Amino acid sequence: MNPAEWLARAARDTPAAPALFHGTRQVCDYAGFARQAAAIAAGLHARGIAQGDRVAIFMPNCVDYLPILFGIFWAGATAVPVNGKLHAREAAWIVAHSRAALVFAKDPEALTATGDIGTTPCIAPGSADFATLTAAPPHDWPAAMDRDDTAWLFYTSGTTGRPKGAMLSAGNLMAMSLSYLADVDDVSPRDAALYAAPMSHGAGLYAFVHILRGARHVVPESGGFDPAEILSLARSLRNISMFAAPTMVKRLVDTARACQSNGDGIKTIVYGGGPMYVADIQTALAVLGPKFVQIYGQGEAPMTISALSRADLADHDHPDWAARLASVGRAQSVAEVRILAPDASPLPRGEIGEIAVRGPQVMRGYLDNPEANARALRDGWLLTGDLGHLDPAGYLHLHDRARDMVISGGSNIYPREVEEALLTHPDISEVSVIGTPDPDWGEIVVAFVVPRDGTTPDPRSMDDACTAMIARFKKPKRYILVPELPKNNYGKVLKTELRAQLTPDPTPVPAAS
Ligand code: AMP
Repeated sequence: MNPAEWLARAARDTPAAPALFHGTRQVCDYAGFARQAAAIAAGLHARGIAQGDRVAIFMPNCVDYLPILFGIFWAGATAVPVNGKLHAREAAWIVAHSRAALVFAKDPEALTATGDIGTTPCIAPGSADFATLTAAPPHDWPAAMDRDDTAWLFYTSGTTGRPKGAMLSAGNLMAMSLSYLADVDDVSPRDAALYAAPMSHGAGLYAFVHILRGARHVVPESGGFDPAEILSLARSLRNISMFAAPTMVKRLVDTARACQSNGDGIKTIVYGGGPMYVADIQTALAVLGPKFVQIYGQGEAPMTISALSRADLADHDHPDWAARLASVGRAQSVAEVRILAPDASPLPRGEIGEIAVRGPQVMRGYLDNPEANARALRDGWLLTGDLGHLDPAGYLHLHDRARDMVISGGSNIYPREVEEALLTHPDISEVSVIGTPDPDWGEIVVAFVVPRDGTTPDPRSMDDACTAMIARFKKPKRYILVPELPKNNYGKVLKTELRAQLTPDPTPVPAAS
């Protein structure tokens, strides 16, 4: 079934129900939301884009996002949402890799200027081209889509630094949404999904269940995460639900505490995407009350591996409360979870191994990437690359990431892409990038840099080398100049030794601000 059916039904059943908000201002009701999506679909069809074609969205959060996303589905096509914070070069790589037939972009010139997207048309919402596209008479019902048709091509990063396109089918997205209702939170038409994190990722994935229930959708005027704005929106709009990375939770709690707010109007904060320190969630519960649910998932099994329920989080009298807060909860209804040994055989309960998951929410595979598929998918199981164990009560505990990904502020950063950017600097001979724990960001990126003989690269020029190639949020927060990198007999850099060097603290060269 096409996920846009949920929008069409909401518009049919409750056409006047409030749908899209920009801040506190209602932009349209469900009839208007569906009409926009249907018009975009008709425009795509008029351009020859149909079932199986891909259409990319490279935009920050905005009130046009959902009509465009659901317009693509309405046409029966596959959406390729690209994080609006990426560098235009990174986004262009995804557009080219996905062979998108068209891109909706806030800044089409930046994308075309990369020279990497050929003749792929780019249309900015609100432009004359957009008005022409949406002038075609709308189709009254979404195109047919099968359960296994790819609806959302979800680009994650790969260990090689190149993103991988996880093919999420219509069935995957529906399993994710129904599991949300079963394990995360119920949703009513009076609720409001607030998009404070990128709609190209977790926050946007939660649009489906809120459309299914005919709830409101709120894009903050700031377009992103401003804690004071969120507290104020919650007070006015009421029944706010949002997805937040642990760093966002921490900042929201700090702001709430400073202005003596208890988060009035916030119904649910779903957190996940990176490790949450126990002390931080305890403070969050003390300040904002039992508003939290944790989820553990990844793009390949969108938002749906395990969940730590509101009741578990609130149960402070339970003897295992703190241990449970440190876990990522129990398998969600549609997820089977196993812990595997390096030879992929299942390990007994309690032992640490790679977390594997199976269920109707697991992706069909990565687009055009047989090696990654062979690594990640075995006998119907998705190997997550995360290490963990299950306790006797079924709670899943994450230990370490099997790969070296850094999660800073809820965003994934792969060391290799930062290393490649830094190696374009003329004074850098070798570099190795790792993540190190940080109370504010979860982790920060640290670069160990071997300068070329007789040179001392300064942090600002190293920052410049990064921002020319990759998104700003990926650049290191610390640079440490070293005469050489520790290596094993095969010449591989020993990242474990680099991590060990960070405690006790060596003398860092602070990054330029
Ligand atoms: P992504 O594909 O961007 O959603 O990133 C997925 C990765 O984020 C997972 O494989 C985990 O390493 C990490 N992650 C997701 N949820 C959690 C969580 N609740 N706690 C700790 N790490 C998490």
